[in-house]
Amino acid sequence: MSISNFDALKTRFYEVNALGTATALMDWDQQCYMPSGATEGRSAQVGILSRLAHELFTADEVGEAIERLQPTFDADSVEGAMLRVAKRDFDLRTKFPAAFVERKSRLSSEAHEAWVQARKSNNFAKFCPTLAEMFEIAKEEAEYVGYKDHVYDGLLDQYEEGATAADCTAMFETLKQPTVELVRFITESGKPADDSRLIGKWDRNAQSEFTEGIAKELGYDFDRGRQDIAPHPFCTTFGTGDVRITTRYEDHLTSCLYSTMHETGHALYEQGSPMEWDRTPLQGGVSLGIHESQSRLWENIVGRSQAFVGWMRPRLGQYFPTLADMSETDLYRAINKVSPSFIRVEADEVTYNLHVMTRFELECELLTGKLAVKDLPEAWNAKYTEYLGITPTSDAVGCLQDVHWSMGSIGYFPTYTMGNLLSYQFWTKLQEDLGDTDALISRGEFGPIHAWLKEKIYQHGRRFSPKDLVKQVTGTTINADAYVAGLGAKYRAIYS
Ligand code: ZN
Repeated sequence: MSISNFDALKTRFYEVNALGTATALMDWDQQCYMPSGATEGRSAQVGILSRLAHELFTADEVGEAIERLQPTFDADSVEGAMLRVAKRDFDLRTKFPAAFVERKSRLSSEAHEAWVQARKSNNFAKFCPTLAEMFEIAKEEAEYVGYKDHVYDGLLDQYEEGATAADCTAMFETLKQPTVELVRFITESGKPADDSRLIGKWDRNAQSEFTEGIAKELGYDFDRGRQDIAPHPFCTTFGTGDVRITTRYEDHLTSCLYSTMHETGHALYEQGSPMEWDRTPLQGGVSLGIHESQSRLWENIVGRSQAFVGWMRPRLGQYFPTLADMSETDLYRAINKVSPSFIRVEADEVTYNLHVMTRFELECELLTGKLAVKDLPEAWNAKYTEYLGITPTSDAVGCLQDVHWSMGSIGYFPTYTMGNLLSYQFWTKLQEDLGDTDALISRGEFGPIHAWLKEKIYQHGRRFSPKDLVKQVTGTTINADAYVAGLGAKYRAIYS
């Protein structure tokens, strides 16, 4: 049945969105509340809904309608942008033959199981053959997507439209030397930060009330969201009117605080998407890199600044009385403790990108055949020794630590670093417009910062491509200059 006009096409988008939202809600429930007995039934239900959504969206009449309607709208209009985004989504989802999708999904669940076992027993050999197959699948995937210069481009583009391996190589090239030097400066400073007072058994209610208060102050709208607890914190969107965040309770008090601030950054972006684009392809954030720039901006640039620590300290003392006498300087240093470690997800702001760079370089070598999968552990350890100055003591804390490759998410890691760099690029522009941001933050006036981000980024949803949006806001392309300068100044001051 053909789709006659733009409104009818939008109706189809609403239907696809309703099924997608139901799946997202089930996933949120699974991660926050679902009893373990429901696992099998739930995954079957999610599988069916996902298939129905896929069929509704990738039906021939949708592709036909997009093709037919596109020339009837100005490319710069909202309708034109919606059709462009829908076409990109449609093309990405219809590029892979059904047999390939099935093979990848079957291999992913086998690979996941193999990875869990291999990590548990610290036995890379157990995972090696499946991982090799996973990289073969990734190469095929890149061929289906298509690319101009590098096989990596076909994978990365799915996560970050228009980004290429050449961009990443340039990005890490500028980042590598100054970061390695900064890490060395910090470790050799002889003044390690002490975060021991932040580790303890903290009251859970206090953690949840304290962090919800912070999220609210930053501008998170609790009438259009809520915070729950999940082992791996995330943000999920069921519509512009319902964007939820999660956090976790750990012995290290900063885990809960910065999980909340990170997810609040994602949520502010989603809540700031225009209401009239709700449930259409234009709703929400434009790419993983831009999204991550928003979470990192609130978590690291705002949340780990001295101004913020000064503002937060009395509140922290109210909820956690044993910390009431901790000085601003001690708290600021504790929160910005830098120390090279094996595990990416526990890494600090300074060393984080070195973890990502290692993975990017290895992915490229594995995809181009420069490195054989069986030689991965050795290559991994050599890079950690070179970049971080530490050699993993086992593969479990080395090349077996991340879940990504076992899920077939190859070509995804650089978006984390893109987020870090962009957060500083956007912040530089924001400071040019708003002036003394430290003064605002130290008074707890986050409104102007939130409003600036809303105007420049949030309100555009997915309307502009990531590259166009970056150009529009910063006047340039993604680069490491602001990041290197900002991070260097901050941490050299802390560790001098
Ligand atoms: Zn994030």
